[in-house]
Amino acid sequence: MLQALQRADDRFNFWRHTNFDERADLMYQLARLLKKQKRALAELITQEMGKTINESVAEIEKCAWVCEYYAEHAGDFLKDRIISTDAQTSFIRHEPMGAVLAVMPWNYPFWQVFRFAAPALMAGNVGLLKHASNVTGCALKIAELIQQAGFEEGCFQTLLIDHDLTAELIKQPKLKAVTVTGSEAAGRKIAAKAGKNLKKTVLELGGSNAFVVLADANLDNIINTAVTARFQNTGQSCIAAKRFIVEASIYDEFLERFKNKVEQLKCGDPMDEATSLGPMARADLAEELADQLQRSVQQGAKILIGGEQSKTRFQATIVTNVTVNTPLMQEETFGPVAPVFKAKDDEHALKVAAATRYGLGVTVCTRDPETILKQLHRFPDGAVFINELVKSDPRLPFGGTGISGYGRELSRPGIKEFINQKTVYVK
Ligand code: NAP
Repeated sequence: MLQALQRADDRFNFWRHTNFDERADLMYQLARLLKKQKRALAELITQEMGKTINESVAEIEKCAWVCEYYAEHAGDFLKDRIISTDAQTSFIRHEPMGAVLAVMPWNYPFWQVFRFAAPALMAGNVGLLKHASNVTGCALKIAELIQQAGFEEGCFQTLLIDHDLTAELIKQPKLKAVTVTGSEAAGRKIAAKAGKNLKKTVLELGGSNAFVVLADANLDNIINTAVTARFQNTGQSCIAAKRFIVEASIYDEFLERFKNKVEQLKCGDPMDEATSLGPMARADLAEELADQLQRSVQQGAKILIGGEQSKTRFQATIVTNVTVNTPLMQEETFGPVAPVFKAKDDEHALKVAAATRYGLGVTVCTRDPETILKQLHRFPDGAVFINELVKSDPRLPFGGTGISGYGRELSRPGIKEFINQKTVYVK
């Protein structure tokens, strides 16, 4: 581990002096490699964590996209910014920080890493990856691909280390910053270690996004969106819709149509292209979800469809009769369970949507976006999507508030997180 850090630091002293065109050439090459090896890489993801092969292919394509995006835009995002003052010249110079540690989760084992790696490398930083222990194959493959694209040894390394060694690494002076994508518990522990050592952190943690359906929503347009928002990646997404909040006047119709669509999801072998709902990644996670469901039922929630769990298999489940205090509405649910809450009116719906300590994003479905645009302040989240599921897109900043973490990834703000924004002043 210490050798890897030394290698990273040595490489940084060269890498930081390369120009954007040189870095972009390698980043485009990385995108080409991803596209060329798409099927094999997708199979690796599916084998390791069980998402459907179609979802894995889409994940690899998105990784190629973020590489191309930053190859094209990093030079513009990080060029000197002249600021007129009383100086002869004053400007901001954007300088890389050095070795950045990325602690990453298994749910999008390529995408989560690439959305860190592409901007970090384009900014002139070097990366060290501590990936989740159930996706070691993906972790090693990512480092191999980056080298294969032509990035020199030391630009990006995968470390197979445990939590204690991660803590050791954070203490080292040559390690400059840490980004964590994972659970609230992981974020708290790692950020505490980093804070003690005065290292900058970005935290992308859990979420409990509301999916609000107002009385005037166009159900024809949003039912499929609602199903995808909850059930893609077998519900194992930080930005999945985890609380459906529906106005009473449209509740019965929404529920009926939502149920019909969810019943059409096809469980099966995740390698089969016809499968739309794969297994969960680990049996312990499925058991945890079953426990959240059981506790909710004990408090009065009713299972409309699904509810059965066996090992990593969890049926697509819809739950009604929930209150704001139901565990499924309070805790993050990382799997295919959709609680549907009946709100008295729009005011009630928006209040319940905001009644969470999480703050990644919210979806509001309405034919009247203008009214919601006037009330954006009511959503404390990092993102508000109207008539669309909350999704990540290289062009838009991504990140949370509250116990969902802080800092931003992607877009212009994402590349500036691990940058020394140096003020230069010439009298
Ligand atoms: P997790 O258990 O927190 O693990 C995430 C990563 O953190 C893994 O690499 C894990 O390593 C590591 N880790 C955990 N505790 C650590 C510690 N004390 N020291 C060092 N490393 C530590 O989360 P997960 O189950 O993989 O992922 C699901 C969670 O991630 C959900 O809460 C989800 O919402 C969140 N997530 C958030 C985003 C976002 O962008 N906001 C995106 C995806 C996922 P080991 O595997 O070795 O334990």
